Amino acid sequence: MRLPRTRQEAATVPRQHRNRRLERSPGLRADCANCFGLCCVALPFTASTDFAISKDAGCPCVNLQADFRCRIHQQLRARGFPGCVTYDCFGAGQKVSQTTFGGRDWRTAPAIAPQMFAVFPVMRQLHELLWYLAEALTLPPARTLHGALRRAMDAIDALTHASAETLAATDVPTLRRDVDTLLSHTSDLVRAEVPGRRQNHRRADLIGADLRGADLRGACLRGAHLIAADLGGADLRAADFIGADLRDARLGGADLTGSIFLTQPQLNAARGNLATKLPTALTRPAHWHPTAGHRPA
Ligand code: SF4
Repeated sequence: MRLPRTRQEAATVPRQHRNRRLERSPGLRADCANCFGLCCVALPFTASTDFAISKDAGCPCVNLQADFRCRIHQQLRARGFPGCVTYDCFGAGQKVSQTTFGGRDWRTAPAIAPQMFAVFPVMRQLHELLWYLAEALTLPPARTLHGALRRAMDAIDALTHASAETLAATDVPTLRRDVDTLLSHTSDLVRAEVPGRRQNHRRADLIGADLRGADLRGACLRGAHLIAADLGGADLRAADFIGADLRDARLGGADLTGSIFLTQPQLNAARGNLATKLPTALTRPAHWHPTAGHRPA
């Protein structure tokens, strides 16, 4: 699939999917009560600091109960499954369960299991793209791109309602590349409004870097490796975080208000505290310690 470039092309999108405001909530947020535990079955795990066990794709996790709930939900970190706390499907789980497969589940209809598990990671990527596009449409500096962003969002939203066969055959890398071009232009427009020199750390190796109190307003952190970096007290307003690896990054006291393309999984993987200022669409991870993650510079 290629994104529509013009209004005429967009008109080929089914009417029910056109001109519809796709809100970032609730459709793009996980609703585990309406999902058949797909992330706990469809995805493979390798035993590591994120997962206490290894398992193959399509094999149910040993902790998944018959009712599709996790038996250790309240103790995931303590039991060696912090990766499950970090993970977010952007609402793909309930979409595949309730829309693509119409409420049929892989336990009572095992014949659909292989296709369901193949579609889930595709849907997850599509929903992630929808999340970014929905955010881009909220950014006034990118208003000249809103038409193209809207057409891209409508086309991908329509695709998420397609058949399992169509979804499984989707060329996701091409879609991601097209959307990334739009988001990159959006980022340029947003960050251009930040006064002064804006730092470019695109795909930079900043693992373990001491960035305490740094002025990173409007910085490009796209794809940056920030694992265990100390960003305590840093000013990250209007910084672009798309694809940045924030595992164990210290965000205590950091100001992330107005940062763009930061996602809940990225935040969940980092270490912040009550003094961390967040973008309005994201929530403070429950496992963050009230005062941890901030060492004075
Ligand atoms: S530990 Fe729980 S949340 Fe994690 S994969 Fe297993 S069942 Fe799912």
